[in-house]
Amino acid sequence: MTELRLEGVSKRYGTDDDETVALAGVDLTVRDGEFFTLVGPSGCGKTTTLRTIAGFETPTEGTVAFDGEAMTAVPPEDRDIGIVFQSYALFPHMSVAENVGYGLEFRDPPDGRSVDDRVAELLELVDLSGMGERAPDQLSGGQQQRVALARALAPAPDLLLLDEPLSALDAQLRESLRLQLKRIQSTLDITTVYVTHDQEEALAISDRLAVMSAGTVEQVGPPQEIYHEPATRFVAEFVGDNTVFDGRVSETTADGARVAVGDATFDLPALPPGTETVSFCLRPGTLTRDADRNRVTVAVDTCEFLGERVRVHGRWNGTAIVLGLESMPPETVTVGFAPEDVHVLETS
Ligand code: ATP
Repeated sequence: MTELRLEGVSKRYGTDDDETVALAGVDLTVRDGEFFTLVGPSGCGKTTTLRTIAGFETPTEGTVAFDGEAMTAVPPEDRDIGIVFQSYALFPHMSVAENVGYGLEFRDPPDGRSVDDRVAELLELVDLSGMGERAPDQLSGGQQQRVALARALAPAPDLLLLDEPLSALDAQLRESLRLQLKRIQSTLDITTVYVTHDQEEALAISDRLAVMSAGTVEQVGPPQEIYHEPATRFVAEFVGDNTVFDGRVSETTADGARVAVGDATFDLPALPPGTETVSFCLRPGTLTRDADRNRVTVAVDTCEFLGERVRVHGRWNGTAIVLGLESMPPETVTVGFAPEDVHVLETS
């Protein structure tokens, strides 16, 4: 049973003259048994957060607590955590079973089991029964990563930390392994913090996620909430590929508002009385060729064929637009949106 709490955690590197702020006041609570993901672009502080939880980094300010107990003075080896990194870091001269057993060198197996029994149990859990005698280089990348997971889980840690564990694998393997990882995590019910820069992976795998940007947490919530109700412009653009418009209210009626964006005027749902400016967003699939309201003609920059859909990056009136269309568009494409698909980010 472990709840993890970070309060006001900041981490600065370097000197006053040449300082890097890796974390700037991070508050997070990861609930007992939860699969919690830190997602954000490169350099936003995900790994620093994970290393601070593990005890490899000491926060410049703030506290880390497990189940209400401050961890600041507790060295990493006494924190009862299992860690898996992007590089599998298996010992090449040891067999698979010895690698998994290595996790038990410094801790006894749980519930009085023998090391051999525990290793066999873990190999079964990660679907590698019968592979114990192999050397790591006789396994595929995905299998090696499952050995690394088994090794981290062998001593039955309270907390599992995973730093981009799938990013060295090819796309298909990544997807099947993430399903397996999710299954193992929920079987064990172990509190897990997962780091990725891949928003799709974060949405697919997590109970809740924290979207990070520049050393701060932008939003915490379950995947559906982060996707459908982004709290900030950053979350809207990073997670949902939303198009964000900034407009000025030109008219308010009982059931809607008319908003000027550039030289166009859009119909939006009702806004709070007195609203003068509004930033709102639309997910790619809500800008459609069929919509008869709020139409704009988008100049197409690039198209990505994704099988079911084509993701189109374009521009209209200086605004970057992302569309999800059923087929490749020509150089320009006219789309519209329904007022009810608008998600309001900010008003003033
Ligand atoms: P990535 O996805 O690229 O791994 P990240 O979100 O994990 O990125 P961090 O590795 O946590 O980001 O780094 C956050 C910031 O802190 C970056 O600007 C990084 O350059 C800086 N940083 C990290 N470690 C150190 C260090 N030891 N010394 C100085 N700066 C550091």
